Amino acid sequence: MCLFCKIAAGEIPSKKAYEDESVYAFYDIAPQAPVHVLVIPKTHIESAQALTREDDALLGHMFEVARTLASENGLDKTGYRLITNVGADAGQSVPHLHLHLIGGKTLKWDN
Ligand code: AMP
Repeated sequence: MCLFCKIAAGEIPSKKAYEDESVYAFYDIAPQAPVHVLVIPKTHIESAQALTREDDALLGHMFEVARTLASENGLDKTGYRLITNVGADAGQSVPHLHLHLIGGKTLKWDN
């Protein structure tokens, strides 16, 4: 099992932000902003590049969870960024699809 599969299964501890039958969300261990939450599918999908049309509902639900968490943290008022890194050049360090929900400060765009 990969790191995020183990986190979703509760085998590795995490600070939970949300959970249901298909999605798990938890606070990033190295936050890049005052709010930094990771939204992951419980099923193992390597990255956005591995998604198929069969994942449409799951992906829509991941965005729904991200919106809800954004609102709960007040980010719907101030703005936020949703990021998913794919592969080496993007710096994807965990090969399990995840949305970074980042906000709570003015975000720079470095690249
Ligand atoms: P990425 O670089 O896009 O693959 O993002 C992986 C993210 O997972 C990074 O922001 C890490 O800080 C975060 N991360 C790695 N291990 C853990 C962990 N055990 N608990 C919470 N976040 C983690």
